[in-house]
Amino acid sequence: MLANILYVIIAILIVTTLYVVVRTLVFARRQRNVTAIVAVPVDDACVAQHLAEAVRCPTVPLDDRGTPDPEAFERLHRMLEETYPLVHRILEREVVSGYSLLYTWRGTQSELESVMVMAHQDVVSADPASLDQWTHPPFAGHVTNDFIWGRGTLDIKNQLIGIMEAAETLLSRGYQPERTILFGMGHDEETGGVNGCKVMGQLLRDRGIHLAGIVDEGGGIFDGLAAGVRGPVALVGVSEKGYLTVEITVQGQPGHSSTPPPQTAIGILAGALARLETHPFPTRIRRLRPMYHGIGRAAPIYLQVAFANVWLFGPFLRRWLTAIPEMNASIRTTTALTIVQGGVEDNTVPSEARAFVNFRLLPGDSIAEVLARATKVIDDERVTITPVPGKFNEALPISPARGPAYEGLKQVIREIFDNPPVAPYVMLGGTDCQHFVPVCDHIYRFTSLVMDERFRGLEHGIDERIPIDGMGKMVQFYARLFQAWGTPGMFPGQGEVS
Ligand SMILES: [Zn+2]
Repeated sequence: MLANILYVIIAILIVTTLYVVVRTLVFARRQRNVTAIVAVPVDDACVAQHLAEAVRCPTVPLDDRGTPDPEAFERLHRMLEETYPLVHRILEREVVSGYSLLYTWRGTQSELESVMVMAHQDVVSADPASLDQWTHPPFAGHVTNDFIWGRGTLDIKNQLIGIMEAAETLLSRGYQPERTILFGMGHDEETGGVNGCKVMGQLLRDRGIHLAGIVDEGGGIFDGLAAGVRGPVALVGVSEKGYLTVEITVQGQPGHSSTPPPQTAIGILAGALARLETHPFPTRIRRLRPMYHGIGRAAPIYLQVAFANVWLFGPFLRRWLTAIPEMNASIRTTTALTIVQGGVEDNTVPSEARAFVNFRLLPGDSIAEVLARATKVIDDERVTITPVPGKFNEALPISPARGPAYEGLKQVIREIFDNPPVAPYVMLGGTDCQHFVPVCDHIYRFTSLVMDERFRGLEHGIDERIPIDGMGKMVQFYARLFQAWGTPGMFPGQGEVS
């Protein structure tokens, strides 16, 4: 009898182990290496000077509504025209909303859907209080042996110049794409893109244009961003989290603090806020599976096993991932209490207390669902929850991490950057490409740069700078992308980008 039970247990263990092993082998496939490609000859020093010149045009918004500085934009547009004469002779250039630029590089086969690459022209300001902390002034466009310095070198004039430089070089060598390639260059991304790319997106829709693929800023090649993985991984943003700020208010009976009510408006509000914080949104571990699937065998074996078998190792993954802020934000809608206000006198019971709470929505969670859940968690009729006008947008649809557009992009990344694993992820912030969701189902956010410790995270910061060789590689990347996306069927097995 006992022996029988033992046999059954052993049999279950063997079957389970086999199942786990097979699932792991299927999940974490090895990516076939591709041969390195030099798409076009690039003169790094010359490109560096061009980027420096673009940095010297201080395209900083004049206010927080994103009002552009006409002089700076005029200077940037003139610089582009003078530096890239073939682009301006052969491509069509349209000015949208006065400052945004839409270039059309006509393909030979007009029946093919167009593709688009993007980069915004505006940059954030440099805090006057910290100007003396910059090694080189933010808008001087200084070039040293290794780096190009200044505001916009990482966000994202590097991409603007990369696109222009690659197109100019390909044009000089007689290249013409089969598929039409658009360049979408907004002027107010840092303030939401409502006058630039939003209008441009509507323009394309009105013209009946549907895009087969978009590459915009975001992502990059990182070491250590995917938890538990060592070595470079190319992360391609396939979606963006949503955004919702709510105002939470409580009205109370004002009075003297010598005879207080059992609970003041502040107490009621505090209770509501505490409940929100102690009831975080549920985690969705499976949302990270595509990323670890893309990383494949480059991930340590225990992670391959765990992500291939979330049904078994989910609890272990949950405990580990929720302790890492970036990973936690990648697997759930997050809740952040950001502002609290109430009361003016130390001896007076206030008539009102209010707070602001900022949620970042995981794709799949809607604003309506988040509001409903917050109301249920707070469960107090004395508390009013209102979305703040202009402070909410839904999470974006997830672009597929397969199909010709993605496969073409992946192939180019592996050719130019020495075969890193390429994996999809959900961006925590937002970009201009959100405005093209109505005209494109394959939107990818990838900044073609190996982010290393020397400059990683300096976007919007002090001493923003990009390595000169990294900038050269970016030109290579775009030239190769234009060839790959511009020539359908270029890669064996890639087929038609659609
Ligand atoms: Zn940017």
